[in-house]
Amino acid sequence: MDFDFTPEQIAYRKHMRDFMEREVAPVAQMNDRECKFDMEVAKKIFKEGFLGCPVPEKYGGLGMDYIAYGLMTEEVNRVCSSTRTLFSVQTSLVALTILKWGNEEQKKELLPKLCNGEYIGCYGLTEPEAGSDAGNQQTRAVKDGNDYILTGQKVWISCGTIASHALIFATVDPKLGHKGISCFIVDTKSKGFSAAAIKGKLGLRSSDTATLYLDQVRVPKENMLGAEGDGFKVAMSALDNGRFSVAAGAVGLVQGCIDESTKYAMQRKTFGKPIGEHQQVQAMIADMVADCEAGRLLYLRAAHLKNKNVRNTLETSLAKLFCGEAANKAAHNAVQIFGGYGFSDEYPVERFFRDAKVLNIYEGTREIQRLIIAQDALGIRNANGAPTGRMTELAGASA
Ligand SMILES: Cc1cc2nc3c(=O)[nH]c(=O)nc-3n(C[C@H](O)[C@H](O)[C@H](O)COP(=O)(O)OP(=O)(O)OC[C@H]3O[C@@H](n4cnc5c(N)ncnc54)[C@H](O)[C@@H]3O)c2cc1C
Repeated sequence: MDFDFTPEQIAYRKHMRDFMEREVAPVAQMNDRECKFDMEVAKKIFKEGFLGCPVPEKYGGLGMDYIAYGLMTEEVNRVCSSTRTLFSVQTSLVALTILKWGNEEQKKELLPKLCNGEYIGCYGLTEPEAGSDAGNQQTRAVKDGNDYILTGQKVWISCGTIASHALIFATVDPKLGHKGISCFIVDTKSKGFSAAAIKGKLGLRSSDTATLYLDQVRVPKENMLGAEGDGFKVAMSALDNGRFSVAAGAVGLVQGCIDESTKYAMQRKTFGKPIGEHQQVQAMIADMVADCEAGRLLYLRAAHLKNKNVRNTLETSLAKLFCGEAANKAAHNAVQIFGGYGFSDEYPVERFFRDAKVLNIYEGTREIQRLIIAQDALGIRNANGAPTGRMTELAGASA
């Protein structure tokens, strides 16, 4: 395993750090306070060509590897979790899913426009009765000649009111359970499609989150992604990429907590010295740094497997679980280090604290990640489809 980054990966990371510091950091706090999705910021990201960065150049992306993509995702989330959600949804959940499952025509039509921001995508899996139990889709797709008619409701959909295209999962044959689900690329201007913003969120306040309503939306059969009945596999493969970007983003949040807390701890004085010289404050900082480094290695290992095109559901789940927990712990400690000032949005750690919670809810809750990991360890169900031996090779060697 090579622990060195290439000059290109370092350059991409620096480019993103400079961009986020210059364009997003000055407005992140105000947008959060006003619960405003900032289209001007989004347009700057589109213009930089950051969206869809791991998409091959022939489809309009930057063709970068997953290590660079992870490092860039970290940098986005170091400053703003809401911006990272836009970046992740468009790149991981939508563009990379179309790259994997789309036919040539779909890829040529959609990917360049998703990469330059002309199109905005959203991923519509969750329903009022289908969150963790994603196979329990109630949205129906009824075949009608060369079209399908979609009816149902999706909840908690990131980018739902701003999307031009939605990946909608719907069941064609409820008797088949999850094997009856198909995925459709739906133009959100279609008759019968509407979206309503969800207000009053704990965090991600400058991210667009919506309920989608589909009332007999007619979708041509050419807009099916994958074959009929492939929908659940499409959804899960999208989550393998989505969870990766959540994990990298979570490490970014931890890094943001470290950067803010170390700065503050050397400025704020109590009992005649900077609070950073008190051992209990140092312990909180040390825990953040240890978790940050460990989390980074976990998501980079998943990135390494993705680069080799090796199935990585287990490694991605491990990264998502660990990094989500690490982000919550770090944000909790960062607020503590700031004392009373951590309780106010004068400093970003208050926003980090609220934004961290969603990291162990969306794209498979903390409990669902534990289920995947434990079932694999117990030999009940191989997360990667077959035993990989990757997790146990040292144990095997010493036996
Ligand atoms: C801000 C935000 C943005 C989101 N964006 C999107 C999006 O873009 N697209 C999309 O499709 N969805 C999105 N979601 C939805 C998200 O993925 C779901 O909320 C999540 O999967 C959990 O589903 P649920 O809310 O129905 O909770 P439930 O499934 O009802 O779970 C409730 C609790 O029970 C636990 N639980 C459930 N089943 C088990 C089990 N078998 N074992 C142990 N514990 C269990 C859960 O871990 C959780 O703690 C978003 C959510 C939020 C909050």
